Amino acid sequence: MKTELAQSLNLEDWQSWILPDAKYRAAQINHWVHKKNALSPDEMSDLPLAMRERLARDFEWPGESMLQSIRFSDADQTAKFSLAFEPNKKIETVWLPYENRQSLCVSVQSGCSLDCSFCATGKMKFTGNLSAGQILLQVYLARRRMNKDVTNIVFMGMGEPFYNYDNVMKAALILHSDFGSGISTRRITVSTSGVLPGIERFVREKQPFKLALSLHSAIPEKRAKIMDIEKKFPMDDIVKFLYDNRSELKPNQLMIEYIMIKDFNMGSEDADSLFKVAKKLDAKINLIPLNTAFAGMERPSDSEIDTFWRSIRDRGIVIINRRSPAKDIDGACGMLALKESTGHNEPAA
Ligand code: SAH
Ligand code: SF4
Repeated sequence: MKTELAQSLNLEDWQSWILPDAKYRAAQINHWVHKKNALSPDEMSDLPLAMRERLARDFEWPGESMLQSIRFSDADQTAKFSLAFEPNKKIETVWLPYENRQSLCVSVQSGCSLDCSFCATGKMKFTGNLSAGQILLQVYLARRRMNKDVTNIVFMGMGEPFYNYDNVMKAALILHSDFGSGISTRRITVSTSGVLPGIERFVREKQPFKLALSLHSAIPEKRAKIMDIEKKFPMDDIVKFLYDNRSELKPNQLMIEYIMIKDFNMGSEDADSLFKVAKKLDAKINLIPLNTAFAGMERPSDSEIDTFWRSIRDRGIVIINRRSPAKDIDGACGMLALKESTGHNEPAA
């Protein structure tokens, strides 16, 4: 029965699928699927017809049928792809162009089983994990549609990567491998809200990708107010594990994400505790202004952002201050799943 997307297979999988006497064909198919973004065996012009027919029989080839819309921001060059893999498995992918690179923010689950109070995705119904193929198709579809390469991948769309560990790591490895997209490990970032078993596995397996830890407050009681996961996996345990295993991590591999929320986590005590954790873990901090207003939470003013940023920067920790692109199409962090947006639409077909 055809239950699997061809994009879920890596080179090794293709080698075991193929007849033993035609092993070199596995590399050919793999090349079509993962490098040339082929969405159907018909595109694989250098394969014998019988093999294309076998591919058609054995796998799901939905083409672009899951693409519902692409919305382009009127404010910047960002674009948001809305995809429906099944009627109840809807996700979004955000294309983020910068001067000399193209970043893609991919989803790993439809909705999220967690419910961080500041995040729109958490308010959606969780309908399941994406397969490796469904994760990769987001990249391949974007490359096809935008007619450009993707240079950076961030697993920061919908869902919690470490609750879909195997599929996320399989997809990341294909994106990195020479048999896939050949994207440097420094340009692939996996973001977690703090799922300790996943962090442990990631470190023990010596995964080469960047790891972003969504902290948002370095004061446990405060963090627990906005992130339920703090009660399950306390940040102190995570920090202890990462500190004890710091020799396993590469320089610059770890990053802390911190959403700045007005009158909540931007005082001097907050800055002190954040600085302490970042220093201990030798991690860069990515400060993000809150993008949505939920449950009374507000985005800080530019001068408040500046003051907080300076208070930490002055102490010698490098900080990346991420811009908030695509706000008019709800493509900014934490806005995936918000229904209404401005910007303009382009039909999928
Ligand atoms: N579940 C993972 C990855 C997806 S969320 C995680 O939580 O890390 C990706 C990033 O978007 C996280 O740093 C998250 O905190 C941030 N984000 C979520 N809601 C946001 C909001 N309202 N404003 C700004 N950033 C937000
Ligand atoms: Fe899920 Fe991350 Fe949103 Fe929290 S911030 S609800 S973990 S997607």
